[in-house]
Amino acid sequence: MKKSYLTTTCLLFVLFFVSSAFISSNSTNSYLGGEGKFVPTTKVTPKLLSDKCSRNRSSDASITHVMLHFCSNAAQKPTNPYNLKDILNVFETYKVSAHYIIDREGIIHHLVNENRAAHHAGKGTLSHEAHRHNDLNGRSIGIEMMAIGTQTEMSKFISTSTYQKIDKKDVGFTEAQYKSLDRLLKDIESRHTDISHDRKHIVGHDQYAPSRRSDPGSLFDWKKIGLTQN
Ligand SMILES: [Zn+2]
Repeated sequence: MKKSYLTTTCLLFVLFFVSSAFISSNSTNSYLGGEGKFVPTTKVTPKLLSDKCSRNRSSDASITHVMLHFCSNAAQKPTNPYNLKDILNVFETYKVSAHYIIDREGIIHHLVNENRAAHHAGKGTLSHEAHRHNDLNGRSIGIEMMAIGTQTEMSKFISTSTYQKIDKKDVGFTEAQYKSLDRLLKDIESRHTDISHDRKHIVGHDQYAPSRRSDPGSLFDWKKIGLTQN
């Protein structure tokens, strides 16, 4: 039973999160510590993942982008889709990660030190950087928000009958999440000055890998973080 549960859960999150070509983890760095520009100055709750879920950044790689995502455990638990422990267990099992995850109440959980590359972007290309492929993990900070998209956006991962069990209040994003995301972005942008506050530098997973990703999706209101919808 336990194994079956885990398998199902993991399959879901593989679909949501696994970067199909992330580079193997190198665990010589510690998350603890970090210095200067890699340390958040806004309030975050430490809940760090183990080193196997991320890797060292190249010494010459600057952080130039933030990628936004959504995640949930809706396929396995449609009536209780936002259990942080469930999500972190899957991250650990599949060695995937984001630097931060913002829960429905707006609490920012710090998962991976910014001086490491989290496994969140996978294969993809940004249309305004068409000459670069599959390298955004090394150049970005990944932020997950606990949220669920439209039925169409979720249809790759969740059946219609499962989607219908989801409470409407669990679909989309909360005002608390927008506020916390705005606060976190301001902090990140103040420390990583190559990240301009525009849609070329703050990007969605669906913008980078549109054929396989639908997050943060059409329900995410970019205007609430001072950006245009497209
Ligand atoms: Zn994503």
